[in-house]
Parts: sequence; C-alpha cells; structure tokens
Amino acid sequence: MKEMIYQTICPGCGIGCGLYIRKNAEGKLSIDHMKSSPVNLGKLCRFGMKLPYYYAKENNAVNQVNASNADVETAIKTAVEILKDADSSSTALLSVGNTTNEEQMAFTKLAATLSTVVQTGVSSECLNMPEASLAEIEKAKRIVLFIDPYAQYPLIVRRLLTAKKNGASIVAVGTQPLNLADETLDLKPGQYDELKLDRESLIIADMHPNSDIKLAKNILVLAQKTGAKIQFMRSFMNSFGTGLSVNQENKMFGLAELVEDIELGNIRTLVVLDSDPIELMPDNEAAIEALKKLDKLIVISSRSSPVTELANIVIATEPVYSKAGTFLNAEGKLLKNSGTGKAGVDALSLLNAGIGGKAFTYDEMNYLVLKAIEAQKENRSVAAECAASDNGISSPKVLKGKYELKYLYNPFMWFDQKDDNDFVLLNRNTVRKLGLRKGGYVNMKSDRGELKMRFRVEALPDGLVLTAKKLPVATGTSTIISMERC
Ligand code: SF4
Repeated sequence: MKEMIYQTICPGCGIGCGLYIRKNAEGKLSIDHMKSSPVNLGKLCRFGMKLPYYYAKENNAVNQVNASNADVETAIKTAVEILKDADSSSTALLSVGNTTNEEQMAFTKLAATLSTVVQTGVSSECLNMPEASLAEIEKAKRIVLFIDPYAQYPLIVRRLLTAKKNGASIVAVGTQPLNLADETLDLKPGQYDELKLDRESLIIADMHPNSDIKLAKNILVLAQKTGAKIQFMRSFMNSFGTGLSVNQENKMFGLAELVEDIELGNIRTLVVLDSDPIELMPDNEAAIEALKKLDKLIVISSRSSPVTELANIVIATEPVYSKAGTFLNAEGKLLKNSGTGKAGVDALSLLNAGIGGKAFTYDEMNYLVLKAIEAQKENRSVAAECAASDNGISSPKVLKGKYELKYLYNPFMWFDQKDDNDFVLLNRNTVRKLGLRKGGYVNMKSDRGELKMRFRVEALPDGLVLTAKKLPVATGTSTIISMERC
C-alpha cells in the first residue's frame, strides 16, 4: 500500500476544522495541520489531535447480518428484504449530521421511497435558526455566551480572545464563570434586558439533539428584539448540512421524542446513518432498552459504536476522512473532502433501487446538494418567528442534601471517546461540607446506583456538579444525586 494523504475536516463538532489525515504504507494514521484552512488556520483542539485513535482500524464498522460478519452485498440484500416489508408509519430514519451532504441527500431519497422523512434529532421548531459567521465574533462589540467555549467548541476561544483585544465585552449567561468573560450573569429570560444588546452584539449559543428548545426560542426572541446577531454552534461536523435535504413542512422530532416513540412501540423499524442514539441520548442504558424494542434496526455507518452491537444489519461505509463529499459547517461554509470513497452513496442507491425507487450516483447527489445550497442562501435571511417562553438557564435545583449533576456536552462525550476528563467539577463549599480530601474521591449516588469519581474545584454555584463525561449514575442531562466522601 502506498502512503495516502487526505484533506478533510474534523468530525468532532460543527466548526469543521480543516486538517490532513496521513495514512502510511502500513495503514498507520497521523495528522498534518492545514495552515491554509480559513476555519482554524491549522489549529486543532484535543479532540482533533486524537483523531488517529478515533479513526483507528478497530473502530471501523464491519458489514454484519444478525451479529455475524457478512459481505456488503448480503447486508444490503437483507436490509432490502426488511425495508420492503416495513410499514412507513412505523419506520423512522435518523441522521444527525456525521457524514457528507451527498450521503445525507441519498438518505433522503431512501426516506422518500419509504414514504417517510429523515429525522435529524432536532425539532423542526429549531431548523431555521439564523447564523452569523465565525469571523463576526472578532468584530462584535458585545458578545453573550450561552455556551462554555473551552469545553464545547474550543476553536472559537481564539476568536473570542481576538474580539476582546479589539475591545469587545463578553458576558457569560449561566451559572459557571468563564475565564474569558468579563462577567457571568445567571439570568432568567425575563431578565435578558440586563444583557444590554444591540445591533453590534453577537449571541453565541448551540443547538444539538439534547438542547433545551424553550431556551433556544428565548434566545431567538432576544435577538429579534435587540437586533443582535446569533451564531448557533452545532455539535456534529455536518449538522448544518442535514437541513439541506429536509423538507421544512415535515414534522421533525427531537431525539428524545423519537426514542420515546420507539419505547411506546410506535416505531418498529429504525434506519440510522452515522448516528448512534445510544451515544447521543443522555442515558445510555435507557437508550439501549428502548432500541431493543425495535423489530429491526439497520445501521449504515463508517464507525463501530454501541448501536452497531445491537443492529440486525450493519452496512459499513469507509471512514469519513476518505469519503468523497462536502459538508456545511456551523456558519454554513461549504467544506470539501479530497477522498474518493463512495461506498455510502452506492449502498444507499442499492437500497433505494431494491425497494422500488431509482438508483442514483454520487455525482447526481452532489449536483442536488449544490442546488440546495444555492436555494438555502436565498432563504437564509428568514429568521424563525418565535414566541417567548418562560423557561431558560437557571440556578441548580438544590434540595437539602442533594446536588444537581449536569452534563457539559463536548466532542468526547458525543462520541463516547476516551478523555483525560475523568473527574467531576464541584465548588469549594461542597468540598468543605463533604470533607473531601485533595486528590481523593467523591461517591455519587442516584436511583441508578453509585459511582466513585475524582473531583476538581471550580467556581460553581452551590449544589451544582458538572461532568464532561457520561456517567452511569446520570439519567438525563440533569440528574439529582447525593454525594459523600469515600
Ligand atoms: S472538535 Fe471541533 S474545535 Fe476541535 S478540532 Fe474538531 S472541529 Fe475543531
């Protein structure tokens, strides 16, 4: 095998940092920085630097039928037999944006032949969110953060620091003080006037399958009222691209609603494209139990992950870095891979033709993608009309002797990747109250059981515990727990 170099983007989040993946003659992967990438100028965060592990050969998906390895033709043929018999009213397709626009478009074709639609894990109420550009961060006079950029979207930190150098004031909304913010305000939506925003301001929030929709609406209302721009960050490399092929008139469900429908038996067949509901849902165990209720689970994926273990059929595609195709990052910028792999589009074409639809090629999908991008540009200025809601970021719901354990979503968490963040964050009062020792452990208990964790002290409000890693004691993005020294 000769050495190959692929120009690609990092799959860790919607920023879409450019990089090269080098595959040597022995198949070993390494990273080369892409200084010419306008998105990140060659820089990568910890997740990006660890991509050789993410893409390691043992993490590649393998074609399977009923848990046994199979050739791709058998896997596709068996999936066709299942889909031919599937009832459209109880069949769902899910793709959150971990693959190319072209595969996403091909998946939409399959959904149409099945008389259904592709769900993206985000409610239709939030599909039409307006976007600023990442470069506008540096020019804003006042920036309001509804995210923790260090943990969630590290590559915008340098833009925020440049904004500060240019004289911007930065406010963090929430309960966790941020180093780069001039102030942190724990505000309810009714108090947002205190943010003092105007047309030269920029709001940075995020949108993902576990987002609080009411909060997102409140942020939109805030922007509409003040004229401030909004940048909604996205959690997946092509989250933004999923909107290209989605018909806005169709009802889109949030991921939790989709899983609930599976739980209730309303969805009997699920087809997922490079999306793992087990990794995505806050409670892994609950997601596994729900997926076990399906009659059939078909996974089309480049990665092996918990959902491929449960699947009846796995149709394996090539790793994302080697695919031919395009992506839209969080600011709607079109980014392109240099790879030539078309296994994903080809498999979807065979599936579509097998169930009575038309076969298609990668080039046809690429043409439709570019056409949809042009159409989307014309509609971009339309901001969603939203009614204000009374919900929003709030202080932890502290009950006597209890604590609120909250997820701090980050790229490692979305993909269940190993990280050094093997600790929870709590404040000094909690450490004193529980008599915790430096370098020691805290024991956390919930209805799910108990867990010993290392801890770090952070300036958080009383009663709040943050985790950047999924923990088995958590039952949702927020879980009430008790804690003691151990
Ligand atoms: S995880 Fe996001 S910020 Fe980090 S390198 Fe990847 S795309 Fe860039």
